[in-house]
Amino acid sequence: RDPEVKKPAWLRQRAAQGENYTRLRESLGELKLNTVCVEAQCPNIGECWNGGGGAGGEGDGIATATIMVLGDTCTRGCRFCAVKTSSKPPPPDPLEPLHTALAVASWGVDYVVLTSVDRDDLPDGGSGHFAETVRALKELKPGILVECLTSDFRGDLEAVSSLVNSGLDVFAHNIETVRSLQRIVRDPRAGYDQSLAVLKHAKSSKEGMITKSSIMLGLGETDEEVKQAMMDLRAIGVDILTLGQYLQPTERHLTVREYVTPEKFQFWKEYGESLGFSYVASGPLVRSSYRAGELFVQNLVR
Ligand code: SF4
Ligand code: SF4
Repeated sequence: RDPEVKKPAWLRQRAAQGENYTRLRESLGELKLNTVCVEAQCPNIGECWNGGGGAGGEGDGIATATIMVLGDTCTRGCRFCAVKTSSKPPPPDPLEPLHTALAVASWGVDYVVLTSVDRDDLPDGGSGHFAETVRALKELKPGILVECLTSDFRGDLEAVSSLVNSGLDVFAHNIETVRSLQRIVRDPRAGYDQSLAVLKHAKSSKEGMITKSSIMLGLGETDEEVKQAMMDLRAIGVDILTLGQYLQPTERHLTVREYVTPEKFQFWKEYGESLGFSYVASGPLVRSSYRAGELFVQNLVR
C-alpha cells in the first residue's frame, strides 16, 4: 500500500524558489547550521525563508527559519515523530550556543525559532543551554526576534521561568493533540495538564510574555475536543495558535485517521480568532513555525 496514493491534492508539496530563499540556501552550506526547514524537507520553506507571500512569492521580508539545538537524539519516543531516540544521547556541545548564535546572526534571517529534542537526561532538561543560545544571539544581533519551541522540561517550572527570562520574544510549547489522545500520540512522560501548566507558567513568568502552541489534526480527534483544547489554551492566555495536518512520517508511526480539508482548517482559524487568539495559522501544511516571523510582525508588533 502506498500511503502517498491516498493523500489529497492539497497536500502536494510546492517547489521552493524566490530570491531570499536562494540567497539563504547558498549561504547555509558555509555555516554548518542544521535547520529543521531543510532536514525535515519542510514544504513551507519557500514561504518562510522569503518572508511570506506564497511558495516562491514576495513577502514583507521577515524571513523565518527553525534551528535545532541540543543534538539530534531525543530521550522520548512520541508516536508521531521521526526523530531518533536514545535514553542516553551524547552530552550537549558546550560551544553549540555560541556557534549557533554566530551562524544565525551572520545568516540573514529576521526571526529564528530555536527548538530541540527532549533531554530528560539533563538535570535542567536543557533549558540552560537554550537560554545561553538566546543570550548569545541577542548579543550578536539585537534586532533578531527569537522564539523558543521547547519541551515540557518534565514540568520543571523553574527551568521554564529561567528560559522565559533569557531574552526570548516568544515562548512556544506544543500540546500536539486533544486531551483524550495524549496517551496514544505522545510519549508517556508528556501530558495535557503538564503542557498547560508549562504554558501558563511561561505567561506569568514575565510581563507581556507571548506564548504559543500547536495542535495536529487528523489523528482521530472530534470537533468538540478540538474546541475544548482551543478554549483550554485561551483560558491560560496563550496568544498564538497553529493547526496543521498530521502526516505519518514512516510506516511505523501512527496512521492518519483523516485528511482535514482546507475549508475545515479555515473554519478552525475563524473559530480560534473568535476565541481571542492574537493570530491563528491554520492549514493542511501549516507547521508550528510556519511564517512565524511575518505573522508575528503583522499581528503583534504593528
Ligand atoms: Fe522552517 Fe518551520 Fe517554516 Fe518549515 S514551517 S520552513 S520548519 S520555519
Ligand atoms: Fe519527537 Fe519531541 Fe517527542 Fe522527542 S519529544 S520524540 S523530538 S516530538
